Amino acid sequence: MTVLGIETSCDETAAAVVRGPADRQILSNTIRSQIDEHAEFGGVVPEIAARAHIEILDRIIAEAMQEAGCGWDDIDAVAATAGPGLIGGVIVGFMTAKAIAMAAGKPIVAVNHLEGHALTARLTDDLEFPFLLLLVSGGHSQFLLVRGVGDYERLGTTIDDAIGEAFDKTAKLLGLPYPGGPQVEKMAAMGDVERFKLPRPLLDRPGLDMSFAGLKTALRTQAKKLEPIDDQTVADLCAGFQRAVSAVLAARTRTALELFKARHPDAEPVIVVAGGVAANREIRQSLLTAAQEAEARFIAPPMNLCTDNAAMIAWAGIERLQLGPVDDMTLSPRPRWPLDSTSAGVLGAGK
Ligand code: ATP
Ligand code: MG
Ligand code: FE
Repeated sequence: MTVLGIETSCDETAAAVVRGPADRQILSNTIRSQIDEHAEFGGVVPEIAARAHIEILDRIIAEAMQEAGCGWDDIDAVAATAGPGLIGGVIVGFMTAKAIAMAAGKPIVAVNHLEGHALTARLTDDLEFPFLLLLVSGGHSQFLLVRGVGDYERLGTTIDDAIGEAFDKTAKLLGLPYPGGPQVEKMAAMGDVERFKLPRPLLDRPGLDMSFAGLKTALRTQAKKLEPIDDQTVADLCAGFQRAVSAVLAARTRTALELFKARHPDAEPVIVVAGGVAANREIRQSLLTAAQEAEARFIAPPMNLCTDNAAMIAWAGIERLQLGPVDDMTLSPRPRWPLDSTSAGVLGAGK
């Protein structure tokens, strides 16, 4: 089947056409980032985001359809992010999707944005359930056991900041532009990782929870002592920060894989990383090493499918439709929508 996907939950306006599930193919994947609109404010401004989505979404959808060589008749369903995210943007995307679905006489699938991130690896790789997922993005940092579509168990989460958020805040306090993740990574490459010893929060405790706020505070304290800080110090701090985050994630991944093996002794141990922070090379490398040590398979989707995109939403729509007919025309967008409450078949339970 062929599905049009729409994503507007944050600061990317995106549309894509994906075919599957048998011959998985991304026919188009159009995206427009609003980074320039938000840069001067040092973060995403919800009102500006919603307006920008309204202005451009129709054109982005038209481009995605054209590039895929599709007319409305070639589409089997429309899938759109219905949450979680910035409500203004989600409304723009989901209502546009409903209008298209109604006009074209196609079913609509309300996709949980996090389920999009969670299932991306099944679009890019041959991957069976169950698998372990480390979701690291601007708003989330969690380990999930993915047993099937709509069957998620959260094994651990950050108790304070999300990792992407910690990267963004760290960048801001060091005077680096928004979005911070890629900037911190760039500076870290020129830094001395040994110069600053930053903490590895919560690692002395068992379980899979994580904490990143203390790390950011420790970095701020170090930076304050050395003010005004020069470029080399910024680079050294970035290197120390990135190393601490990588070490925490690698240690927790080792624990998560042990848990997975105990729970599913007959399944191949697999750890998938998803979300914008998965674009970070040092983090990818340390997760790969942790997986190799545990003799587990490691999957990281290509960078452009790790950050927000609509191909992952179209794919999640296809996965949902495999379970049976879906028509979420009466659903409302949900700003908060935990992934472990998206059980298949009762998608609208909390509407
Ligand atoms: P969510 O998916 O939780 O709703 P989001 O959609 O804003 O949040 P993504 O778009 O998946 O999150 O990821 C954006 C985050 O990823 C930002 O916080 C950004 O700083 C971070 N990020 C992007 N590239 C890198 C990188 N190379 N290194 C570290 N962090 C990065
Ligand atoms: Mg984003
Ligand atoms: Fe996201």
